[in-house]
Amino acid sequence: MTDQPVTRALFDEVMVPNYAPGKMIPVKGEGSRVWDQEGNEYIDFAGGIAVSALGHAHPKLVEALTNQAQNLWHVSNVLANEPMLRLAKKLTDLTFADKVFFANSGAEANEAAFKLARRYCWENFSPEKNEIIAFNSSFHGRTLFTVCVGGQAKYREGFEPAVDGISHVDFNDLAALEAKISDKTCAVVMEPIQGEGGIKPATQAFIEGVRALCDKHKALLIFDEVQTGVGRTGHLYAYQKYGVTPDILTTAKSLGGGFPIGAMLTRGDIAKSLTIGTHGSTYGGNPMGCAVSEALLDIVSQQDVLDGVLAKAERFRGHLEKINEKHHIFTEVRGDGLLLGAELVDEWKGKAKDFLNAALAEGVMVLVAGPNVVRFAPSLVVDDALIDQGMAAFAKAVDGLVGA
Ligand SMILES: *Cc1c(COP(=O)(O)O)cnc(C)c1O
Repeated sequence: MTDQPVTRALFDEVMVPNYAPGKMIPVKGEGSRVWDQEGNEYIDFAGGIAVSALGHAHPKLVEALTNQAQNLWHVSNVLANEPMLRLAKKLTDLTFADKVFFANSGAEANEAAFKLARRYCWENFSPEKNEIIAFNSSFHGRTLFTVCVGGQAKYREGFEPAVDGISHVDFNDLAALEAKISDKTCAVVMEPIQGEGGIKPATQAFIEGVRALCDKHKALLIFDEVQTGVGRTGHLYAYQKYGVTPDILTTAKSLGGGFPIGAMLTRGDIAKSLTIGTHGSTYGGNPMGCAVSEALLDIVSQQDVLDGVLAKAERFRGHLEKINEKHHIFTEVRGDGLLLGAELVDEWKGKAKDFLNAALAEGVMVLVAGPNVVRFAPSLVVDDALIDQGMAAFAKAVDGLVGA
């Protein structure tokens, strides 16, 4: 073994090539600031893809994690643990749910949701009631079941045979769902706002219509709130804003603020289909993740923090509008709260990544959502002054890219 320098080149040498990370390697983060190996400073509006809900190294999360680390790391689900029980109690108090299953990621939370939906219908109706309907352009994770439910064929390519009994219809097209749904439908799965698919919110009429069709056909409605959950939209969960309650909800990403955790929430009458031994996870509900998540939820569930998300979102939108008045590069700015997508005009279609790279060169981290949308998913408590500073840097990046 040699003490080889840890550089970006080492990635190409030792990592499976399924990612294409940028050139700089971050080594430190504090709030919404990040520093790379060379000591260059960046403003983080990417939030680790809607994960770092309280920014980096938030003192309350560091405290929760280090306290827990000094006491108990892991026992597995052979035994219960206090942080897990406290977190489950908080999640049920704050939502429609009576019951919680813990996982380690969004995909695993969805895997549990899809398995539960099938098991529930198998037990309460018939084995034939097993069909899952999802939406084109949706994203639900990268396990085999979740890429099959997800509405992007490219993520399934070469991994077939696919899981059976899944079909897709267009998002926000109630007539298409009505034509497809039947008494054999076990669940309809949707993101209230499609994230990876380009920050596309469900319309109020659509989400209400989906609920009504599910009720009519006794199908479960699953909301994948992995990206929209935990305060992102200015509500703890987006379903609360829409006023439409799902039967099962999945949450991850911001739930751990950077510590891997996911959860599936549901009602007691549905949960009881996952009887002892039917599903599980070694790490699910581990004390470290649950302790961090509990501390995070205590902060994010405060009304002033949620209100702050909406105020900060307006600030971002103001900056994006100013950029657009100058350059006319966005057809619209979509999303809700601090999940914002700026769709590029025809001339710049396919080039969202160029904006990400130009921004990074100016010291600001942003995201894309597909090839045509520049996405922002910053910390929910990012300083106003830092928003102004970072968006000024982003404006400069746009000037450079499209010509000032
Ligand atoms: C990110 C995401 C997932 C997958 O979460 P992982 O933690 O990467 O497994 C699932 N659904 C939605 C809506 C997401 O945005």
